Amino acid sequence: MDLEAKRNKEIEIIELMIKIYCKKNDDINEEELINYCTNKIQKCPMMETKTFCSQCPVHCYQKDMREKIKKVMRYSGPRLIFHHPILCIKHYLLEAK
Ligand code: SF4
Repeated sequence: MDLEAKRNKEIEIIELMIKIYCKKNDDINEEELINYCTNKIQKCPMMETKTFCSQCPVHCYQKDMREKIKKVMRYSGPRLIFHHPILCIKHYLLEAK
């Protein structure tokens, strides 16, 4: 997968995970978090070598945003398989590498 495809795929996954979270929870501003994460992924200096942000040694997220995305990941990670099984399998394969 080329770099831009990888970047776009990651944006697609993060957006989906935030939407899954926000469908059932109202403590996070969906649009704000999607924009924030998309912006970070678009500027990510680790894109070539990284798997996912949770594995990153840089951690460019602000503390409060990091807390929000961690909450989203914990909630939506296990639920992703019902919404998008293929993306989910790829996500876990990448994380496992
Ligand atoms: S946390 Fe790391 S991998 Fe994630 S966007 Fe920031 S620099 Fe890139």
